Amino acid sequence: MNQGLLSVDEALARMLASAHPVREIEEVPTLEATHRVLARAQRSTMDVPPMDNSAMDGYAVRIADGLKLRVAQKIMAGAVGRALEPGTAARIFTGAPIPPGADAVVMQEHTTLAKDQVQLNRTPEPGQWIRRVASDIAHGAEILPAGKRLLPQDTGLAASVGIRTLPVYRRLRLGLFFTGDELVMPGEPLAPGRIYNSNRFTLRGLAEVFHCELKDYGIVPDSLDATRAVLRLAAAECDVVVTSGGVSVGEADYVKPAVEAEGKLLMWRIAMKPGRPLAFGNVGESFFIGLPGNPVSSFVTFLVFVRPFLLKAQGMTDIAPHAIAARADFDWPEPDARREFLRAKWNGQGGLELYPTQDSAVLTSTAWAHGLVDNPPGHAVRRGEMVQFLPYSELCW
Ligand code: AMP
Ligand code: MG
Repeated sequence: MNQGLLSVDEALARMLASAHPVREIEEVPTLEATHRVLARAQRSTMDVPPMDNSAMDGYAVRIADGLKLRVAQKIMAGAVGRALEPGTAARIFTGAPIPPGADAVVMQEHTTLAKDQVQLNRTPEPGQWIRRVASDIAHGAEILPAGKRLLPQDTGLAASVGIRTLPVYRRLRLGLFFTGDELVMPGEPLAPGRIYNSNRFTLRGLAEVFHCELKDYGIVPDSLDATRAVLRLAAAECDVVVTSGGVSVGEADYVKPAVEAEGKLLMWRIAMKPGRPLAFGNVGESFFIGLPGNPVSSFVTFLVFVRPFLLKAQGMTDIAPHAIAARADFDWPEPDARREFLRAKWNGQGGLELYPTQDSAVLTSTAWAHGLVDNPPGHAVRRGEMVQFLPYSELCW
């Protein structure tokens, strides 16, 4: 056990050092592969476009034949034309193959048609409005790297070169449970001293955002036996088990002794605010991450630590969020000695404002915010200075 505080980067580096992608790879239909993580780089099986084709609705012409031409054929997308006879043009539509002999396409807006004669209003440039074979993708070129979470445009790209199935990592099984005798679910009576289990909603939502296969073991009473039992079950069924609460050193904090009894545990006090205690370890093959019970802390520590861990375990390679330098339209004169993640929001002037209270018990701040200002230890922010902003759009996908 580390007596001092551990920096966020150091703790994250230690966690990521033991994270490895799930071993099983499955072949899924490309139609169902969005959000999955690609396990092997994909190469194009063909040239794109597969042949020279028209980028416009208009006329395919041979420039040397002049400006007045007889329209001798019509080529729709999906059809194939004949070679251009001298003095003729082909009526052609976007995507249709360029007929042999043509060296330019003239868009219809730049022509005048009288019966079967087309008059070109100006001399075309060689190659104009022709999409050349392989100009987008050459046969054999890499189109998607391994370790990428597939977005809709990625599966579209794979489909555009005829790839029908894709090798992806098996979905990560994430187990969640929530410790605390004080917790009740919305809809149940809220006896004095009880609180609603809001973390269950936040963490389940995050499990969905990160496309995990979720197993929710619900509320676990504050007892060593109960905690050990659910931990054993969750570890047997899941790749990663994440819990909320019970990692402080209070009398009712049984997560630490439970993980120590069932597996191995590292307890860290992280130099960050919100969210000081963090537990990391393993029970058998399964990884364990224990988050603080405090709702803001558990949300922020999930984004800072659990997110990259899950992404790496899912097989993703590019996992660091990209911070944006943004103007602080606020003062933060009394910073903490620890690195702070301040809940902030864009104002209408392109700057950031802080939620009025940064108290870590106030969950409203996380819902109000557009993201987190990543403020270095002990750094006082003065209005107008540039700060590092981690928008939710970087953290929550
Ligand atoms: P703990 O880490 O168990 O000491 O909890 C710290 C604080 O967070 C206490 O005030 C708890 O009541 C609160 N808390 C713990 N678990 C949850 C939860 N699942 N949802 C909302 N608040 C919680
Ligand atoms: Mg507790």
